[in-house]
Amino acid sequence: MAIGDELVGGFTLDTNSHWMAERLRILGYPVKRVTQIRDKPHEIIDQVQRELADAEITDVFVSGGLGPTPDDRTFPALADALGKELVIWEETRARIERRVQRMHSMGLLESPEVTEGNLRMARIPDGPAHVFKNRRGMAPGAVYQADGTRIFVLPGVPMEMKGIFTEELEPEFLAGGSAATVRELRFTFAVEARFYPLMRELEALFPDVSVGSYPNFETKELVIRCVGLDPKRVEETLDVIRKRAPV
Ligand code: AMP
Ligand code: MG
Repeated sequence: MAIGDELVGGFTLDTNSHWMAERLRILGYPVKRVTQIRDKPHEIIDQVQRELADAEITDVFVSGGLGPTPDDRTFPALADALGKELVIWEETRARIERRVQRMHSMGLLESPEVTEGNLRMARIPDGPAHVFKNRRGMAPGAVYQADGTRIFVLPGVPMEMKGIFTEELEPEFLAGGSAATVRELRFTFAVEARFYPLMRELEALFPDVSVGSYPNFETKELVIRCVGLDPKRVEETLDVIRKRAPV
């Protein structure tokens, strides 16, 4: 779930979702869907509840809307969605205070005082399973547990999101997954529509392997990509395509 008016409005490309989807696939946590939501509390609440109601979903990854200004509303909305109170998280407040003082001593901030905006970032729904530190910025990140689903909330700034994800989240929460096997075949100047009968057949023969066809109009290549949990089944699918490709 990527949250931000700037994403939905077409101002900013949602690179966070793309980056996370790739990382999660590699870590063995394939993504079921990617959503972009505006900074509107009831829309955030609706989407969180939709994800929690989906029995197939075990983990939800949220980015954005944790900044210091009133247009960032993710944590208050999440508190409502989970029926929790907003509290000032003392550890995060203390980190923000130290950061403000450091920035002041470096001449980057006029005042060493924590502002209302700074403090906003330490206000999170009560009862987190874990609060991330964020070595690169003030906004924290946190994990909540709701009805057996984990909800990971991360800042929108790509550098901060990636930092928390790789340094704090992955090692602690996403160890032990096993990635799917991905194999591709490339055909130059192939006519995509001619693959239709073969792909229909593969669907029936290999329901456990997802076969996708992706034409690239710049390289004039047709990429047939096979993804599956069992490497042997993926290889078998590839063998059939090699033998029977209509090229
Ligand atoms: P926020 O945490 O919502 O205050 O986001 C801070 C900044 O991060 C925004 O101004 C955007 O430039 C950037 N940002 C937020 N969400 C994304 C995203 N999904 N993909 C890329 N950049 C983002
Ligand atoms: Mg925002």
